[in-house]
Amino acid sequence: MLKEECGVFGIYNSDVAAQLTYLGLYALQHRGQESAGIISYNKTNDVFHAKKGNGLVSRVFDKNDLKELIGMSAIGHVRYSTTGEDNNINIQPLMVKCVKGTLAIAHNGNLTNSKELYDELRQNGAIFQTTLDTEVVLHLVAKSKKEKLEDAIVDALTKIKGSFSMVFLTKNYVIAARDAHGVRPLVLGELNEQYVVASETCALDLIGAKYVREIEPGEVLFISKYGLKSRRFAEKEKKLNHCIFEYIYFSRPDSILFGQSVYEIQKKLGARLAQESPADADLVIAVPDSGNSAAIGYSEKSHIPFEIGLMRNHYIGRTFIQNSQIAREIGVKIKLSPIKHVLKGKKVIVIDDSLVRGTTSKKIVKMLRKAGAKEIHLRISSPPYKHSCFYGVDTPSVEHLVAHNNSVKDIQEYLGVDSLAYISLDGVLDIVTEKQLLKSDDFCTACFSGDYKIPLYSLNKLGKGVLEKK
Ligand code: AMP
Repeated sequence: MLKEECGVFGIYNSDVAAQLTYLGLYALQHRGQESAGIISYNKTNDVFHAKKGNGLVSRVFDKNDLKELIGMSAIGHVRYSTTGEDNNINIQPLMVKCVKGTLAIAHNGNLTNSKELYDELRQNGAIFQTTLDTEVVLHLVAKSKKEKLEDAIVDALTKIKGSFSMVFLTKNYVIAARDAHGVRPLVLGELNEQYVVASETCALDLIGAKYVREIEPGEVLFISKYGLKSRRFAEKEKKLNHCIFEYIYFSRPDSILFGQSVYEIQKKLGARLAQESPADADLVIAVPDSGNSAAIGYSEKSHIPFEIGLMRNHYIGRTFIQNSQIAREIGVKIKLSPIKHVLKGKKVIVIDDSLVRGTTSKKIVKMLRKAGAKEIHLRISSPPYKHSCFYGVDTPSVEHLVAHNNSVKDIQEYLGVDSLAYISLDGVLDIVTEKQLLKSDDFCTACFSGDYKIPLYSLNKLGKGVLEKK
């Protein structure tokens, strides 16, 4: 089944439901650029409308699409997946008509028991249309012994394991559910006395909605004409498993995540990195945009000036040129360009949030050298990324993770930098727990520590480190 990173959005009872969903997805674009989709429901004539497509939100929907997405409730999804296969069929939200009614779903996360459920459902005659673990949920709802659609959804939620922040759309409800570990974010907002749900608070900010609270781990929220009704499908786990990588890379700095400002955390990570791994240099630069906040923190702490050394082109998206030979030759230069005037003859500290494959950084280093940087000291505001994520971040299998089998010294040589240092995991945990809102144990650090606290049912059975693709 596919591994995915995603953003989800849902709104109930708005006469501009599709437009606000579109804007919400726009704000969540960083969580997925591969495809986008919106499904709305029009009660007047009892019709669901759907529009989905590949690419950025701005490319998938035009003015007419939004007009045709009629109805007062809607859900939306943006998705990132590096599998590169032709997967129109996999674009979310998914929608089915079952005996209990019509149901649409949008999912952020990864189910860890999807293989077992998939095998069992197929043995019992289920026909799958997609390669998404999300589809398992639809089958579970359809097969549930509960008569009412909403009860069947709760029943299905009790059967799935792993990480999931989900929104559902039915004729009468927008429903939001979050796994009992609270791995991925999901927040509730209020706009004109109506409710909105979104992966991150930045989506609420854009549409002018007030942040109310997070959806609780193990909670399923029903939004309808009766207002808000909260039910539990699972007890909140004693130890949460908030994804620490959401703070480091994934969430937008202007979001409030797990109760804390992403920007503030990232800046503190940079400051801690400056303390742990100083370097003698003339200036600090960031790999934009993911390294920006940490670089400011590093610069403030070290009293070494922050400069813009790399410009990012924000307008590339998925263009027809992306997979062509010419694009491969030009490579990272399409996205990033050095400011020679800043770099020439300078000793430079370069801050990035993470090294995954290491291939981008290698190209960036080459580019900085060519632009005249005299020394390059690379500092990473996360610990070495050594293990694949099975809870909803699209990471390659371990053999492609540069830190999995290589020492820091090896990586330093491979990248061609004068020095390389990562922040310590203790350093990261100190910062995310500094305000005493959360404990170290409340975080999933599997990508750094290999400690997979949520059991990997399907994976154990498969006996290998990657989810099998069907
Ligand atoms: P590389 O080491 O070449 O794989 O690229 C590392 C860069 O990718 C860093 O600058 C990160 O900001 C970014 N990055 C980290 N994790 C992910 C991810 N799951 N998906 C896409 N980009 C990522």
